[in-house]
Amino acid sequence: MKAMVYRGPYKIRIDEKDIPRIEHPNDAVIRVTQAAICGSDLHLYHGLMPDTRVGTTFGHEFIGVVHEVGPSVENLSVGDRVMVPFNIYCGSCYFCARGLFSNCHNVNPNATAVGGIYGYSHTCGGYDGGQAEFVRVPFADVGPTVIPDWLDDEDALLMTDALATGYFGAQLGDIREGDTVAVFGAGPVGLFAAKSAWFMGAGRVIVIDHLEYRLAKAREFAQAETINFAEHDDIVVTMKRTTDFLGADVVIDAVGAEADGNLTQHITAAKLKLQGGSPIALNWAIDSVRKGGTVSVMGAYGPIFSAVKFGDAMNKGLTLRMNQAPAKRQWPRLLEHIKNGHLKPNDIVTHRIPLEHIAEGYHMFSAKLDGCIKTIITT
Ligand code: NAD
Ligand code: ZN
Repeated sequence: MKAMVYRGPYKIRIDEKDIPRIEHPNDAVIRVTQAAICGSDLHLYHGLMPDTRVGTTFGHEFIGVVHEVGPSVENLSVGDRVMVPFNIYCGSCYFCARGLFSNCHNVNPNATAVGGIYGYSHTCGGYDGGQAEFVRVPFADVGPTVIPDWLDDEDALLMTDALATGYFGAQLGDIREGDTVAVFGAGPVGLFAAKSAWFMGAGRVIVIDHLEYRLAKAREFAQAETINFAEHDDIVVTMKRTTDFLGADVVIDAVGAEADGNLTQHITAAKLKLQGGSPIALNWAIDSVRKGGTVSVMGAYGPIFSAVKFGDAMNKGLTLRMNQAPAKRQWPRLLEHIKNGHLKPNDIVTHRIPLEHIAEGYHMFSAKLDGCIKTIITT
């Protein structure tokens, strides 16, 4: 089969790999029909996540058709159209029992923090991902779900991560009626977080980025006020001014491991070290939230980012909440919002490209070229 393969920072290509086989009785093999490139894949592509091994296949956002099931799989049949949450989890360990699907202990027992994620380095279990024609899906009775007939493929695909994560980011903000919610980052996660904030009672939603075309999408898709941080000497002062000098009630970081917000330059670990590895967006979030407010971190940060303003966060009495999103937990509410017409997830999709051209897709997304927001890979 054809599969995207990582060759080192900024280097990916399509290779031939064997079609994955059933390795455990509870596995399924899915024939991928659509995958997407996530902002998290860019951290791997930029070489910012530890233990990202050459030869692995990325891709944790995918849907497809069940191709084969192991002998103990009960809930899926060959031919089912399924969406697969990006987390791999057993559904029954201490953490899964508490809804912490992204912290499952059985898929990655040696890790101190994270559970399993498809195609997301050996830190997250070393599973191959879905930017390929086929993918092995462990615990097939737990994560994968038959896509309702009325749900479009692209909307289902976005449920597997970006949409569920944006929604989760807003949930972790504990938004109260009338709250001012600021979202740093107008990528797919930020756009969905901004949209979700309204569902939870926000009174104002402000999205901050430096890419004008994405801010335009935030105004149109998420009805947000927008601020282009490149046009302000000090975005924190601007944020204070626009919130009666109190700060936002809730700030969501939907940026993560980007050093300088300038993706047209190659970001390297060495460069980040020179800059003190300062996670700019997270520090802006801590500075822009009001005292006693909540910062919800959806952005992913690698170990290179250590200079976080935890002293200031402590002194402000902040609630900092974060996790890899337990995507499936958000599905029932999201399906309701889509079904009743409050949400059309694939409004944020800008590009659809065949798997063969995935390297161009990564380059375009990394450098934010051609108005790229979300790229779907077709097989
Ligand atoms: P993306 O690259 O499309 O979006 C990031 C946006 O942030 C870009 O528009 C960029 O211009 C903007 N940006 C850069 N520096 C900024 C700054 N200092 N202030 C404000 N905006 C800034 O990525 P995405 O797909 O939207 O993902 C966003 C983040 O969420 C990534 O870090 C990704 O790893 C993470 N993520 C986390 C989870 C989770 O479960 N927690 C799931 C998916 C993605
Ligand atoms: Zn992702």
